[in-house]
Formats: sequence, structure tokens, C-alpha cells
Amino acid sequence: MSDSIEQLMRILVVEDEKKIASFIRKGLVESGFNPLVCHNGDDALHLATTERFDTIVLDIMLPGRDGLSILRKIREDRNTVPVIILTARDGLSERIEGLDLGADDYLTKPFSMDELIARLRAIGRRMSGGGLSLQQYEDLTLNLITREVSRAGQKIELTPREFSLLEYLMRSPGRVLTRTQICEQVWDYHFDLGTNVVDVCIQRLRRKIDDGHDVRLIQTMRGVGYTMKATS
Ligand code: CA
Repeated sequence: MSDSIEQLMRILVVEDEKKIASFIRKGLVESGFNPLVCHNGDDALHLATTERFDTIVLDIMLPGRDGLSILRKIREDRNTVPVIILTARDGLSERIEGLDLGADDYLTKPFSMDELIARLRAIGRRMSGGGLSLQQYEDLTLNLITREVSRAGQKIELTPREFSLLEYLMRSPGRVLTRTQICEQVWDYHFDLGTNVVDVCIQRLRRKIDDGHDVRLIQTMRGVGYTMKATS
């Protein structure tokens, strides 16, 4: 099973104008991407600081927190996610400020979808073989291209479902994921499968990942769900 760069890239699109946002979403989906779209600055900052993305497409003028202040905060947190800012045609000063703050690239509105996609693919190519294909947490490594998982250099065999579950946990270490979220993400069911299905899969995964190691990586948050967090 080999996924394309488009499928592997996790993209956050921050754009408050609903028309433009849906134009971007549609264009990206048609090109094989699966973006997450958000419409205001506060939600964007929350997402950018609690979840891992491979690229953020960031409008500057937003309700709530503006794009430049989101970018500043992301870089202050030493988050190196590539950021493409969207600026107005006459927005020379915000373009310069954005690049100074650590934006990787910019597009001037109105831009063509092809231009955005070309830039995203360029970022994807730079990342593949590096950050994009490899998820790492402590001594645990998951390769999205080869589908190999190893801990402390020892290869671990997982079923496709266990692999998806582990990938989901590894995408946002420290974040508590509820059973419902896990059901939606890993089983693709928008209703509760019954907690048992998730619990059983977690138990199997935990046996493969944590058994024989002093530091345990998969934690149960009683009454809430699960999280990836190193605990000895
Ligand atoms: Ca705007």
C-alpha cells in the first residue's frame, strides 16, 4: 500500500471568507489532498498548536486573531511547519512582515488553484523521505511510505487497523483522544461503535508497542480516552 504525497500531507487551510475557503477546499480535494479548513484566527491557533500539520495555508485578515500573529506564535513555539500566507494584492508590508516572521511562501489574492497546488507539491517533495513520511515519538518510528513500525530499532508487525490507530495517536502526542474521536478517525464511523472495539485494539497495540519497555508510550486517561505520552 503506498499513499501519494497528496494523501499523506496534512494541510490546514485558514480562510474566513466562506467562498474562497470552499473554492480552496474543492480544488485541493480534486487534486487528491484532504485539507482541514477553519474560518477564524482563534480556532486556527488552537489547531496549529495542538495538532501536527505538514503545511498551513494562512490568510492574514481574519476575525479573532490575525494571520501574522498566529504565525508569530507558531514560530515562537519553535514549530517549523511550512506556512504559505495569503495576502491582498496591495499587501506588500504584510507580505514582508510575514516572510520576516518565518512564512515559507506567499500567494497574492486572487491566486489560481494551480499555483497553490504547485507550491504544496513542492513542499511535499521537500518533505518526503523526511518529516512527511516519518512519524517519530521517543524511540518509536512509523514510516507512512513503507508502513514499517519500529521501537528502539526492533521491527514491530501491526495489522492495518493497529497501524492507523498508532498513526492517529502519534500525530498529536500528549493530546487526549476520546473513544468517539478514535472511532471516527480509525474506523471511519460517525457513531459510537461501543467502547469495547477501541479498547481491544488499544490493548493489542499496547502489547506490541510497550511490552518489554520501561517507558510506556500509550496511556489510558480514565473515563476519557487515550493519549501518546512517554511515562516510566
Ligand atoms: Ca480574510
